This record gives sequence, structure tokens and C-alpha cells, in this order.
Amino acid sequence: MTSRENTRVVSVGGVKIGGGNPVAIQSMTNASGVDAVVAQLSALKAAGCEIARVAVPDMASARDIYAIKTKVDIPIVADIHFDARLAVAALESGADKLRINPGNIGGEEKARIVAEAAKKRRAPIRVGVNAGSLEKALLSKYGGITAEAVAESALNGVKYLERMDFHDIVISVKTSSAPLTARCYAILAEKTDCPLHVGVTEAGAVWAGSIKSAVGIGAVLLAGIGDTIRVSLTGDPLEEIKCSKEILRASGVRRFGPDLVSCPTCARAQIDVIKIAGEVEQRLSNITADITVAVMGCVVNGPGEAREADIGIAGGKNEGVIFKSGKIIAKLPEDELVERLLKEIESLL
Ligand code: SF4
Repeated sequence: MTSRENTRVVSVGGVKIGGGNPVAIQSMTNASGVDAVVAQLSALKAAGCEIARVAVPDMASARDIYAIKTKVDIPIVADIHFDARLAVAALESGADKLRINPGNIGGEEKARIVAEAAKKRRAPIRVGVNAGSLEKALLSKYGGITAEAVAESALNGVKYLERMDFHDIVISVKTSSAPLTARCYAILAEKTDCPLHVGVTEAGAVWAGSIKSAVGIGAVLLAGIGDTIRVSLTGDPLEEIKCSKEILRASGVRRFGPDLVSCPTCARAQIDVIKIAGEVEQRLSNITADITVAVMGCVVNGPGEAREADIGIAGGKNEGVIFKSGKIIAKLPEDELVERLLKEIESLL
């Protein structure tokens, strides 16, 4: 298996993917028109998106990439279906990467033209295979949509480009099933060293889609593979970035500022954990230090349960305590806990 430390490295407008580089967060715009796309890209970038994809359904949108790139500084991936001319035009407009399926770009000659244009501009190509549109030959070979069939389709796309001496390749496979997604990527990691772009496609609306994405993407990341992720939600793309960060944080592959540990509360809780945890979460949002902060309902189990925390709050009778590295350092009335916690956190920075 090729782990994420050992995949080949490709560079997307300066953001490196693969070879143990930080697992990059991607999203896709759903706006149209230069100004609306620029506004959305700026918001995505501010939220933590590192690479953004734009759909290129026609020549005008291919050319728009030029204007977009003069107004916002984020690597752009042009998403192209079927039309090699659009791929070349998007590259000429400054697209930093293409997402195509080499098998449906119009035949070998057209694929070669796209590969040469991408090579000239040092733009990688993502071979994106969709489980819903697998080649008939693979469907009959494997008796339907299986992980083996999806992986083979993607690997055929890779071989196709490599025969043209094009090697800056990222692979993605799109299925809307978390278990199938995990199996597809496991097979790919056995057979190629191309960096893997991981996502569960059409995962659903924000709440259920975030959970499905966390299960599918998380399973891949926990297996030690996956070089970049895109959470795909029916909703505001900013939700995708929030979800991506939580998945990366929970999988232990990246940190984004403080990690908040809070107990689910039970009959032993002696402070309003839900209110305090909400307040702490909000107050921590502008701190970037990699610390773990706990909010626990009781002093009996709290500090022990939150052993990993650098600092935290635990409820006591009519009061609460602040603990640091497992030791109680102050006892205070409930309404003074958050302020003191923040002060102690500042002293740690
Ligand atoms: S920390 Fe205390 S209040 Fe919170 S769940 Fe554990 S035992 Fe219950």
C-alpha cells in the first residue's frame, strides 16, 4: 500500500498534494458570473479552503477563469466534461489544474492535446471517475458497480495519461456510498502512487451529508491514505470547509487551532456544560494555537476523563474549577469560569 507519505507530489498553483504534505481542503463554487464566483472564492479562502474547483460548461466560463484569477488568489481547478477545447481554453486562462475523465474527452488525439497543454503549464490533471457512469465493459466484467470496477476505470485513465508521458496525476472516484468509497480508495492505494482526492459525492444535505462524508472520508484517512479531500454537501460551500476541517481534525491528520473536548453531561453535572461549552467554543474561534481545551460537568470524573486536555473547566458544587495538565489550579463561581479559562489560555500562548 502507498501511504500518504509516499504518494507522488503534484503542485496545484503552489499548493502541494501528496508525499506527506498537509491533506489539502478543497471545495467547489456553485455561483455563476465572474463577480459572484470571486465573492464565493474569497469567502471560501477566508474559511480555510485551499484549492477551489469551478465548473466549466462552456467557452465563456473557461475564459472567465482569467478574470477570476486576477481578483482572487486561490488555486483553481477547472472541471471539464467531454470537451477538450474547454480544457485547453481553461488552461490558457490560467487554471491551475484540470479535472477530467480522460476516457470521455473525445478520444486519444484530443486527450493528448489536453495532456500536452497541461504539461506546458505544469498543471496537474485529476482523473475523476464516477461510479454512476462506468464503462459498459467494466460493468459486465465485474457484474455491476463494484469497488474493483471503479478503481480499474480510474487506473485505466491514469495509464492512458502515463502512456502520453503525463505523470502529474491525482485520482478521485465518486460514489455516494461511504463503504464503497473506502473500498475503492483502499484498492487504489494498493495499485498506484498517485495522490488520492477523497470525497463521498452527493452526500446529501448539510447534517446527514456531513456525517456520511465523515464516515467515508474518515475511513480512508484513518487507513493512512488520502492526500486531499472535498466534502460534497447540498448547501453553502462554506459548510463543506467547516466539515472538512472537523474531519481532518478528528482523523488526527491536521490541526486547526484549539481542540475542544466537552462531556455529554449526565446527572452528575454541576454546571451548565452546554452553555459554557458553547461560549468557550465561540471564544476559541479566533485562537490558532494547537491546544486541547476541555469543558466537563463534574470534578469527580471531569479532569480524569479529559486527561489529554492542556486546560479545562470542571463543575463543582455551586462552583467550578479550572484544571491545567490534570491538576486543579483555581476554584471559582460558575459565572467566572470562562473568563478565567481564557486568561489561562492566553498565558499558555
Ligand atoms: S464529566 Fe461528569 S458530568 Fe460530564 S459526563 Fe462525565 S461524569 Fe457526567
